[in-house]
Amino acid sequence: MSALRTLAFFEAPPPPSLPSDALAHRDLLRGDFWRRIPAYADVREEDFLDHAWQARNTITNASKLVAVLRDLVSAELIADVELGLARAPMSVRVTPYIMSLIDWSDPYRDPLRIQFVPAASRLEPDHPELDLDSLHEQADAPVPGLTHRYVDKALFLALDTCPVYCRYCTRSYAVGVDTEEVEKISLKVSNERWGRAFDYVAAHPEIEDIVVSGGDSYQLRASQIEEIGDALLAIPTVRRMRFATKGLAVMPQKILTDHAWTDALSRVVDKGRKLRKQVVVHTHFNHPNEITGVTEDAMSVLTERGIIVRNQSVLQRGVNDSADVMTTLVKRLGHVNVQPYYVYVHDLVKGVEDLRTTVDEAIAIEKHVRGSTAGFNTPTFVVDTPGGGGKRDVHSYEHYDRETGISVYEAPSVKPGRQFTYFDPLRALSADVQRRWAEPRMREQMIRAALAAAASA
Ligand code: SF4
Repeated sequence: MSALRTLAFFEAPPPPSLPSDALAHRDLLRGDFWRRIPAYADVREEDFLDHAWQARNTITNASKLVAVLRDLVSAELIADVELGLARAPMSVRVTPYIMSLIDWSDPYRDPLRIQFVPAASRLEPDHPELDLDSLHEQADAPVPGLTHRYVDKALFLALDTCPVYCRYCTRSYAVGVDTEEVEKISLKVSNERWGRAFDYVAAHPEIEDIVVSGGDSYQLRASQIEEIGDALLAIPTVRRMRFATKGLAVMPQKILTDHAWTDALSRVVDKGRKLRKQVVVHTHFNHPNEITGVTEDAMSVLTERGIIVRNQSVLQRGVNDSADVMTTLVKRLGHVNVQPYYVYVHDLVKGVEDLRTTVDEAIAIEKHVRGSTAGFNTPTFVVDTPGGGGKRDVHSYEHYDRETGISVYEAPSVKPGRQFTYFDPLRALSADVQRRWAEPRMREQMIRAALAAAASA
């Protein structure tokens, strides 16, 4: 064989073809984007990038929201929002940063507006099987605010406030102030309650992994971050800790300008490392528009300090229920060094049925996301099963009846011998099946049939 022919044989294959939007995940919004909102038109950069300014100017009630919206949207939308707020299980709380990222010229379709500002005209009736604490976190809590469901893991709800309130919040039973719809249980900061939680963890050596959540770790004072970190790291059997915060997605300015808080977090992470224990941050981005140049700067600080950040998204209709949006989200997260960890099929949560998708849609989106980037940066799509079965891979159902929208899961390592059901939103079902759901006896029959089919699968 001639040398020329040998070379031709080893000719390098062409690189994978590059779709036109293949690098869109690298285009991060920078500049003074907040000035397009009349209420923030005169805000200086040093103020907008200051966490204290963001906190002071956070919208915390309907009249503050209307004051910002008045020069921005129609009177009809404002009326729609006011009605939506009156029916919502969550009180309103939105940072100026998030308000500035919403496209107010197309508010009904904007993925951030949908998550934080309810519009009554888009609401749908709750699913008939909905329960306020659908994940049974309270039933699995031996101490108020400490859920111990998985053998080696506990969830510590340190407080009940957040820098924003998300419409889809699973913990609407506790997070935020009471609304016209829901009277919340109290999980306020309390040394006595925290002490009982730490004592419980110390008395249960099987617990190796603690999630510190709430509410949101962003709302903890710097001294409280260290207090919790020190108390949990001092328990020899605790090996891993995660501070959960939505903050990076809604107020990345805090990482850049609240030096006491960021330093306190760094000290706990460093202390953990010296003890050969892992302390990481879990956060909560749902749409690529939530990741800006400010996020990139904040993540640069955490990355330089060696702090690992993982992301959990919630699949929401109109927000991220398309393969393209989810793929861009996953790649943009990777670009700023946030590791995509989970995508949750939306829990059954009061007042936000309009946001839920089907298990089938989650499976279809996952199929497209997988392969678009490295496997370690590909999230697992899960159903957090109502009734306390924990997170199950969407594909792992024992039975899934697409006609009735009932999927049945088992969780042998969590609650052996039990079955857990998840229900697709009624809107996705035929008119005939929707009529059957409206009839309690038929409903029971459909659920019984699904459980029996799963048992014999
Ligand atoms: S930040 Fe988390 S806990 Fe707080 S309202 Fe949003 S989803 Fe709920």
